[in-house]
Amino acid sequence: MSSAGRVYASLPTPLQHLATAAYGVRVQRLRRGGVYAATRGELATSERWSTDQLAELQERRLRETVQHAFRTTRYWPELGRRLGIDAQRIRGVGDLRQLPLLDKATVVARSEDLSAAGVPDTAIYYTSGTSGTTLAIPIDAASRQRNYAFFARALAWAGVEGGRSATFAGRPVVPSGVAHPRSVWRWNPGMRNRLFSAYHISEANAPAYSRALVAFGPDYLDSYPSAVAALAGLFRDLRLPAPRPRAIITSSETLLDEQRAAIAEVFGAPCFDQYGCTEQSVYASQCEAGTYHVHPEYGIVEILDERGEPARAGVPGEVVCTSFTNDAFPLLRYRIGDVAAFGASACRCGRSFPVIEQLCGRLDDLIVTSDGRRVGRLDPVFKGRRSIREAQIVQEGARDLVVRLVPGPGYLEADGAAVARELRARLGAEMRIEIRRVASIERSASGKFRAVINRWARGTPDRLGARNE
Ligand SMILES: [Zn+2]
Repeated sequence: MSSAGRVYASLPTPLQHLATAAYGVRVQRLRRGGVYAATRGELATSERWSTDQLAELQERRLRETVQHAFRTTRYWPELGRRLGIDAQRIRGVGDLRQLPLLDKATVVARSEDLSAAGVPDTAIYYTSGTSGTTLAIPIDAASRQRNYAFFARALAWAGVEGGRSATFAGRPVVPSGVAHPRSVWRWNPGMRNRLFSAYHISEANAPAYSRALVAFGPDYLDSYPSAVAALAGLFRDLRLPAPRPRAIITSSETLLDEQRAAIAEVFGAPCFDQYGCTEQSVYASQCEAGTYHVHPEYGIVEILDERGEPARAGVPGEVVCTSFTNDAFPLLRYRIGDVAAFGASACRCGRSFPVIEQLCGRLDDLIVTSDGRRVGRLDPVFKGRRSIREAQIVQEGARDLVVRLVPGPGYLEADGAAVARELRARLGAEMRIEIRRVASIERSASGKFRAVINRWARGTPDRLGARNE
C-alpha cells in the first residue's frame, strides 16, 4: 500500500467519505477539463460518419501519430534507421505493415526510449500485470481527457451519460483489514458517484450492499464483471432487494455469458461491456444493439493470424494496436496480448465502426489441447449451472486441467461431473480433468478475476503470430 493509502485506511469512516469526495472533485477537474469537451463534441459528429470518412480520419491521425513518434522518442527513429523505414512513407493503414510488431518485453526494456519528450502533464500508470509483466505507462493529461470522452460516448450508447453511478473497482475504498465494515461504500459527489468496495462482497456483507444500492438508486453500475456478477448471485440466492439501474457497465475482465445473464436477471438491465487497456491502445464497447465496436478514432486495430497476416472475419487472431490516443507513449503495432475475431456484417445500429465478434481472452491463457488447438472461451461449459457460483479453469499440464469451483446452494457432485464432460467434449477425451471445490477464488492484486489460466504453456515461445522484429 502507498503511504497515502495507509493514511486513508487509518482514517475514521466519515473522514474517508470526505477524502474520496475531495479526491473525486480533483479527478473530475482533471478528466473533464482541457480537451475533454471538444473531443466529446467531435466524437458525437464522427460516430455518424461513413466508412470512407472514418478511413480518411484514421489515415490522417496515423500520419500524425507516426510522425509524432519518430520526432519525439528515441526508440522509433532508431528502429526506422535500423530497418530503413521512413516515417514520411507511412501514409495509410496499408503502410503500417512496414513496421514490425512491438511486444511487451520490448516496452519494458525500452520504456524510457519509447516515452515522448516535451509532452506536458504526464503521470505514470501501471498495468495490472495479470500475465506477469507490469508495465509503467506514461499518460499525459490531454490523453486522459480524450480517453474519458470515449468512455462518455460509450455511456451515451448505454443511455446513461451524465447519470449517477455506483462503481465497484480495484481501489481499496474500504480498508481490507475490516471483514464486516459498517459501510461498504464511500462518497464521491463531484462525479455523482459512490465508490463501492469490490473486496468485501460476501454472503455476510450482501445485505449491506443491497441496502446501500437500493437507497442510492444509481442510473448505472460500473464494475468488473466478476464483482457485479458475484453480487447478482448473492442477491438472487439470499432473495435480497436489488437496485434497478438502467445499465450495467463492465470492463477489465472477459464478461462471461453466464455472468451477463445473471446480471441482467437480477438487476433488470443489460450489460454494456467495454474492451480497453491501461496502455490506451484500444477501445471497444457495446452499442445499443449489443455489438462490440472498435472506436476507430481511438486507433487502428489489426487482428493477425499465426503467420502475421490479417485474420479473416470470424477467425480469432492476435490483437495488435496502433493508438492515436496517448501522446506521451506512442505505441505502434503493439501486441496487447489478447485474442479476438472481427465480425463480417454491419451492425443494425447504423454506425460504420468495425465489429468485434468474439473476445477470446488473453493469448497466454488459452487452453492448449493435445492436437494443438488453442481454446479461449470455455464459459459455455457452465451454462445453466446456477449451483456453481464461480469457477476457474487452470491448465496444469499438457493433459491436466483443474476446475476450481465455488459451490452455491443446491450444488451436487453431478454438476461438477457434467462440467468435466462438457470440457472433454471441447478439449478432447484424453484431457484429465479434476474438479476441485474451493471456498473462494482469489483475485489479482488489482482485484481482477481470471476465468482461464494456463500455468503450463506460460513462458513457452510457441505463440500466435510470433513475428517480432
Ligand atoms: Zn452497433
